[in-house]
Amino acid sequence: MQRLAGRTALVTGASRGIGRGIARRLARDGALVAVHYASGEAGAKETVAQINEEGGQAFTVGGDVSEAGRIAELFTALEEELRQHTGSATLHILVNNAAYGGRPTLPEDVTPELLDRYLTVNARAPFLIAQRALELMPSGGRIVNISSGITRSAQPDMIAYALSKSAVDQLTLHLARHVAGRGITVNSVAPGRTDNGSPVFSQPAVVERMAGLSAFNRVGQVEDIADVVAFIASDDARWITGSVIDATGGSLLG
Ligand code: NAP
Repeated sequence: MQRLAGRTALVTGASRGIGRGIARRLARDGALVAVHYASGEAGAKETVAQINEEGGQAFTVGGDVSEAGRIAELFTALEEELRQHTGSATLHILVNNAAYGGRPTLPEDVTPELLDRYLTVNARAPFLIAQRALELMPSGGRIVNISSGITRSAQPDMIAYALSKSAVDQLTLHLARHVAGRGITVNSVAPGRTDNGSPVFSQPAVVERMAGLSAFNRVGQVEDIADVVAFIASDDARWITGSVIDATGGSLLG
């Protein structure tokens, strides 16, 4: 028996990288997965094709989450697709994965516009998406917010990104308390350096340096994160809420 059989899931930013890995893993566990994208429609379709090849069920939903109006449209499309596939708009699992990664920028070079971009995509959007998803979520529902190990290890040129990811952990903490009475859990999963398929991960010297940050001396693979998210999304994790799950491969052990 697949442990997420009969469940529905929305994974934001599933057109590539970790989001794609999470979508594939949840589908392998039996969930019907909404594969969300912004600019990467082709990538999202590729994720759906991979899921179908693996015997799973999925569909795409688009929308740039930096605009509140687009989030509303995303949910209109999501509800319509869910009704078509299952006869109801119930959403059991939300994975807030989409994020703006940006480039390393020292504190003195962070402009108000850049700071706004990080906070809008990485903090405001997950908040608004969770708010909307909760309207569709029954008891046993799961919200998984993808944070980052960088919230607990100083890296000055990542200050704006880290600020936005710390906000995600606050979303987790306070929302978890608020929805616990409904039987819904809210947790963060915090990856460390993870090979998301970007070109930097084919540069051996860079990979070696990143690998050295982990106690296991390798960079994370998307499956390392997807497996943790799948556990948190499952019934087995019913007693965990309001937590930040370290999925950095021991990068913060010192
Ligand atoms: P990625 O490969 O850069 O993919 C980012 C995803 O987010 C894409 O699917 C992209 O959609 C979507 N996205 C970006 N801006 C968006 C917007 N304005 N509206 C809607 N969607 C948007 O990312 P990743 O490395 O897999 O990271 C996934 C998550 O893990 C993120 O939350 C990231 O902060 C976190 N994380 C990653 C690492 C790492 O080393 N990779 C480490 C720590 C934490 P489109 O391509 O369709 O535009």
